[in-house]
Amino acid sequence: MPRGPSTRSVHAGLPPAVQGAPFLPGPVLASAYHLAGDDVHTIPGYLREGNPTWAAYEQALGDLEGGDVVVFSSGMAAASAVLLTLEPGEILVAPSDGYFGVRRLAEGHLAPRGVDVRLVPNEQAAMEAAAPGATLILAESPSNPGLEMIDVPRLRAAAPAATLVIDNTVATPLGLRPLELGATMTMASATKALSGHSDLLMGYVATNDRAWRERMLGWRALTGAIPGPVETWLAHRSLATLGLRVERQEANAAALADLLRSRPDVQDVRWPGVGAVVCFTLADAAAAERFFAGSAMIMQATSFGGVHSSGERRARWGTDAIAGGFIRFSVGIEDADDLLAEVATALDAAA
Ligand code: PLP
Repeated sequence: MPRGPSTRSVHAGLPPAVQGAPFLPGPVLASAYHLAGDDVHTIPGYLREGNPTWAAYEQALGDLEGGDVVVFSSGMAAASAVLLTLEPGEILVAPSDGYFGVRRLAEGHLAPRGVDVRLVPNEQAAMEAAAPGATLILAESPSNPGLEMIDVPRLRAAAPAATLVIDNTVATPLGLRPLELGATMTMASATKALSGHSDLLMGYVATNDRAWRERMLGWRALTGAIPGPVETWLAHRSLATLGLRVERQEANAAALADLLRSRPDVQDVRWPGVGAVVCFTLADAAAAERFFAGSAMIMQATSFGGVHSSGERRARWGTDAIAGGFIRFSVGIEDADDLLAEVATALDAAA
């Protein structure tokens, strides 16, 4: 019988039991390792090439994603490792309305180098229409901030030869396992729900393609896009509660979406049934500002997936084509009654 999400989270990446050893070994703090003789290519001799703390965390994420994982210093470091493999003349299809950092990377660094960058809405029909002939397709499921889901097998069928990369940041591997659905790679920011405590940055690429894994390892070692062992260990420690946190966050998100849909002052409530992010739109930017001013509990912050409920008026960045009153809300693990009461009070303050 397949194991449940919390069981998998708790045990992910733990080494076999050794008498007297801890369940999860502490971070290995070393820039260099003993390395005598000529055997310098098969074992890491330097932190930029490998670290046992990364290996344990990669094993953990690999268990959850169903593939081999290479960790990076942030989600953007992982995205860069994937996208900067593209050569002049090759075609990238990526979201025009997904995470703006990826879009900026494509427009600012790939297009000027001759990559044919085609940005399309992160919606099934638009992605499928753009897919034929693409060298690499990057899609988010759900997307940030629109929360549009992608049917991965259908997108794969639209471009069987393309390298298909799914950004799994919002869903986490407990909500979606893109590799099983036909993706060549999963890419994600582990800064968000995977780590869950808003205290570190982390990213990763997962794949079952040996050549892609080698490319990612080589890129990481050369560019130095490496996470520190302490952050990696913290991320691994945090993973143990992923199942519990996501269960609570998704139950809270469902209840919050119901509350928001019952309010005439709230428009366009979005929650795709997976992940901790709920989006909705108030009358205008001023109403959204009043919403946040109306609650001391809901943090104003730009990240998501953490244990504390937080949110932001997303249009304040000027990076997304969204309404001034659009709120991206990250649902925390507070008690549902408290969270709903707080949001209702903030909405009344905004009205
Ligand atoms: N992908 C998505 C969908 C994101 O939301 C983010 C960050 O918000 C990233 C990638 C980049 O991750 P990081 O901030 O860890 O570099």
